[in-house]
Amino acid sequence: MSVEPRTKSPATGTAPGELIRLDQVTKRFGANTVLDHLDFSVQSGKHVTLIGPSGSGKTTILRLLMTLTEPDEGTITVDGEPLFPAPEKQVREVRKKIGMVFQQFNLFPNMSVLRNITEAPVQVLGMSKDEAEARARELLELVGLTDKCDAKPTRLSGGQQQRVAIARALAMRPKVLLLDEVTSALDPELVAGVLDLLRDIARSTDITMLCVTHEMGFARDISDQVLMFDGGRIIESGPPEQIFGDPEQDRTREFLGAVL
Ligand code: ADP
Repeated sequence: MSVEPRTKSPATGTAPGELIRLDQVTKRFGANTVLDHLDFSVQSGKHVTLIGPSGSGKTTILRLLMTLTEPDEGTITVDGEPLFPAPEKQVREVRKKIGMVFQQFNLFPNMSVLRNITEAPVQVLGMSKDEAEARARELLELVGLTDKCDAKPTRLSGGQQQRVAIARALAMRPKVLLLDEVTSALDPELVAGVLDLLRDIARSTDITMLCVTHEMGFARDISDQVLMFDGGRIIESGPPEQIFGDPEQDRTREFLGAVL
């Protein structure tokens, strides 16, 4: 299913304004076809939410974009550059444009909060330590954790750890932020604060967001477009008012009925 107009520019392989593009992407784990000839694209600056039942392939898409796994068939393009198939050196360059926040935070436990945020800008982007620290302090202010610079992640609550993970992703100034069920591992009372922070980021930056979430209120608030997955395919897509208010597919209605 095509989610955005698919007129290719011969120079870049993407349509104008298109930041992410998947063409006929298939991913199998053994006999299990997890993504089945998937086509979709995301326009620059848009917020796209992936919803659907567990096991429908949503996280696999984020993992493909992070190059944590490779497709069996198809092509993936980011910002006009091939991410798959592509030579290793090019993949490294394209990967710099993508940040990801995981369900389980994945912070470096032996590094301070500040170092968690400065490590990749210094090591990967070659930023000076001073510049990286200044940027990290700005980001810690944004996420409300200026007083935790020197703390080790294990001393923080889950909500605070996830705020650090968000700051760490933003420190790389990515064009795209991938969010994989970022509140699923949090105690219920910490969920709202993290979602509010992400709402602020969505409102106040031009960063493109691709979110997998079970938080339907959040999806409704931030999304320009919602993609409903089932069995490795997009079965329906549209603006949140349509998907949540008047879905076309029975399967979407059934899914929303179970989670809302
Ligand atoms: P969702 O995010 O929609 O819950 P996933 O993308 O995580 O779905 O998983 C889709 C399917 O792929 C599931 O059936 C899952 O068991 C399978 N899967 C995901 N990762 C692996 C893996 N590393 N090895 C084998 N199967 C996997």
